[in-house]
Amino acid sequence: MADILYTYKDQVYANITNRCDCNCTFCIRSQKDSVGDSETLWHKTEPTLEEILKAVDSFDFTGYDELVYCGYGEPTCALDNLLASAAYVKEKYHIAVRLNTNGLGNLYHGRNIVPELAQVIDHVSISLNAPTAEKYHAVTRPQFENAYPALLEFAALSQAAFEHTQLSIVDVLPADEIAACQKIADERGIYLKIRKYS
Ligand code: SF4
Repeated sequence: MADILYTYKDQVYANITNRCDCNCTFCIRSQKDSVGDSETLWHKTEPTLEEILKAVDSFDFTGYDELVYCGYGEPTCALDNLLASAAYVKEKYHIAVRLNTNGLGNLYHGRNIVPELAQVIDHVSISLNAPTAEKYHAVTRPQFENAYPALLEFAALSQAAFEHTQLSIVDVLPADEIAACQKIADERGIYLKIRKYS
């Protein structure tokens, strides 16, 4: 079985699903099979909740103050396991929980999942990726036609619900697109994280 928990640099991550409703041109999944100390992040079968909790209990969280849901798939595609395992982690290990997401969870599930997420997740990072719907679709190739406005709505709902919400882009964007993304974030009062491409 693939690694469910893995570490990269100074953080511990949970890789709970390989499902995703995007097909990003830059996705690390198309470049390599593992990240950090993992052997592979490709699951032969989707992890069950029991397998996720077993992986959590096998990990020594000493020195870590946060678990980040981020792996070779979109965590909200495995919503039930995400919610249940995040609640377990918070209650048993008393560390913060962060979700790295494409922000399409409400579209994927056909309802607003932010209130459920906010019960067990402290911080949310949402991939903005581009300043317009056209550019977003070109780079992330989502399943849904109305993905970009849905992402922005998810971000606004998140900003009101979580302790910390951020939008993220990668620094390979041209300067004018970075400025346009900054404007989108500023207009919504949301922090914009400009990540280094690696
Ligand atoms: S949303 Fe994330 S996991 Fe899904 S294709 Fe894009 S980069 Fe990969």
